[in-house]
Amino acid sequence: MASDEPGPGQKYAIQARRHIAALRRARPGITIEIRWCPAHKGIAGNEKADEWAKEAAGQPGPYRLLPRSLANLKRGISEKKWVEARRWAGGGTSKSKYRMPVSQMPDGAVAGSTKRLASRYYQLKTGHARTGQYPHWAKVRPTAQCWWCQCPAQTRDHLFKVCPEWKLQQKVLWAEVQQETRRWKSRSKIRDLLADGRCG
Ligand SMILES: [Zn+2]
Repeated sequence: MASDEPGPGQKYAIQARRHIAALRRARPGITIEIRWCPAHKGIAGNEKADEWAKEAAGQPGPYRLLPRSLANLKRGISEKKWVEARRWAGGGTSKSKYRMPVSQMPDGAVAGSTKRLASRYYQLKTGHARTGQYPHWAKVRPTAQCWWCQCPAQTRDHLFKVCPEWKLQQKVLWAEVQQETRRWKSRSKIRDLLADGRCG
């Protein structure tokens, strides 16, 4: 556990216990009964409790999500995206290391990475990656539409620069590219980027 602070749900349980303890101190021998109320309608006091709860939540309706911090939400989103990115690149599924045949030009970018990741890299480099556009050329898919954002053409440029699904990865990539090349993404071509020896 990273912290011993009470979680969002526990907060209310702890508060309730404090109130119960205070009641017991004030009136020893009091009988306290805790009941689950499926609805607030028609139960004296609960209409008021519901009103306060709605006010506190700042939104109408009997249901609301437990509070989550913004940092917690952001982490959840980015974790989910990286999992998807790793799955796409084949990370973790293949333990075999990619070894370049001696007859071929060695490429520092992928030497020692997994076979699937290396093959994705060469597909991207040669323009044969299975992005939306390639199967379209190969007549496998009826359209070149991006399956993440429905934009009409899922090209390498789309995935690396525009697609909202990969915003976080794009930010990291282009920040590094700019640092290395002093060129911003609008002036960089994916073809040149993948051909650059510093890529990887
Ligand atoms: Zn897209």
